[in-house]
Amino acid sequence: MSTASVVIVGTGAAGTAAATHLRGLGFTGDLTLVNAEAQVPYNRTTVNKTLLHPDSTLDSVRIALPDDPRITLLAGRAERLDTQRRTVVLHQGNHLSYDAVLIATGARPRPLPRRELNDGVAELSDRVTPLRTYDDAERIRRVLARVGAKLCRPARVGIVGASLLGSETANVLTDMGHEVFLIGAPTNPMARQLGTTIATWVQARHAEHLAGVANARVDSMFTRCDDVVLVLSDGTELTVDLVVEAVGVDPEVGWLSDSALTIDDGVLVDDRLRTLNVEGVYAAGDLARIDGSTRVEHWGYALAQGAHAARTISHDLLRAEDPGPFQSSGSYSTRLYGKSINVFGSPHPYRGREIALAPLGHEAHVTVYTDAESRLSAAVTLGSAKLANRLRPLVAAAADLNEAAEVVTATLTPPTTAAK
Ligand SMILES: Cc1cc2nc3c(=O)[nH]c(=O)nc-3n(C[C@H](O)[C@H](O)[C@H](O)COP(=O)(O)OP(=O)(O)OC[C@H]3O[C@@H](n4cnc5c(N)ncnc54)[C@H](O)[C@@H]3O)c2cc1C
Repeated sequence: MSTASVVIVGTGAAGTAAATHLRGLGFTGDLTLVNAEAQVPYNRTTVNKTLLHPDSTLDSVRIALPDDPRITLLAGRAERLDTQRRTVVLHQGNHLSYDAVLIATGARPRPLPRRELNDGVAELSDRVTPLRTYDDAERIRRVLARVGAKLCRPARVGIVGASLLGSETANVLTDMGHEVFLIGAPTNPMARQLGTTIATWVQARHAEHLAGVANARVDSMFTRCDDVVLVLSDGTELTVDLVVEAVGVDPEVGWLSDSALTIDDGVLVDDRLRTLNVEGVYAAGDLARIDGSTRVEHWGYALAQGAHAARTISHDLLRAEDPGPFQSSGSYSTRLYGKSINVFGSPHPYRGREIALAPLGHEAHVTVYTDAESRLSAAVTLGSAKLANRLRPLVAAAADLNEAAEVVTATLTPPTTAAK
């Protein structure tokens, strides 16, 4: 039995995946997970998809940890990392010693600049909310229920930020019968994530289904009686019951500010997820920047990084096999207006070429990205799981564009019935 101890700070995708994999890899020492939220570990992707519904339960979205007396789940906020003494210092004063520590504290929503914009602002705390945690979803459920009970009408909700989180949430709340106004930057923020063609399809569905769409910034906001008034950069005033902030996140690294780690828009790690120049400290998930690359904020990546960090820790503590460099399968999916959207690789309009292989108007659509040699670097599919499944290995293998075009044609062309 191992006498080493591992501390994992954060019980989201990366932290829980690391714990499960460490046990699976034969680490039998003490494993302590620290979680700043009061709840048991849960799947964050359900916060806007499942937990906004009045009859949803935390139990249905919880993440199970291995049942093991040497695994301790501690509710508490890490306040400091002392890499000299190898301890994590918690808000309540506990010092947790480690042989290895995994930093998996994720990200925190960027708030809208409220108070500096309006001195006379009344209490907005319940009516202007981020949407990242179970508590945020609960706050929104409370406001929606209050509006329904008091005013006998659906709630009017302003969602600020029209990227994936804002778009999904707008779709969910509209399906629940609420009036949603989506306020996004004039440049279509989804284009960076999905390519211009599919992003334009999403915008058209928003225009069709939502109570209002504004391509503007929020300049200020204030409360009037029981309402929140948003003042937009185009001069419009929008009166709503609730404002959801979905304008992006920053890595949750404040508690590491006086540590010896290299922090620059996240925690810098090498390709094994070891932090730079500090032994025994690893990072994974939304806050990790591997080899200086851009952080990735997706569930599947965070799970894969947590698992990889566990392999590196096993290698370093137990002399297990070197896991090699982290390689991401690089995919995620969402569902908007009844259609699945699957993303493989990293679409980016400034990298490679964006080529629409199937025109919109089809049941399904795909946009692929290629490098200078016309090899696939990314693909985004809309409305076809079959197409997504067929393109996934082609992106992984950096297949030729012509091969992808043949697969798309074969998948989207309906079979002809043989003449008798
Ligand atoms: C509403 C919503 C929907 C999403 N939907 C999708 C989706 O459909 N598909 C997709 O791919 N991605 C989605 N994402 C993104 C995805 O959830 C994140 O990329 C993923 O959760 C990141 O995992 P993580 O482990 O890095 O961080 P998190 O899951 O955020 O976990 C961080 C953990 O650290 C804890 N913590 C923070 N600070 C401290 C501290 N100082 N001390 C102790 N504990 C601390 C937190 O309480 C939490 O347990 C969504 C995100 C949100 C907010």
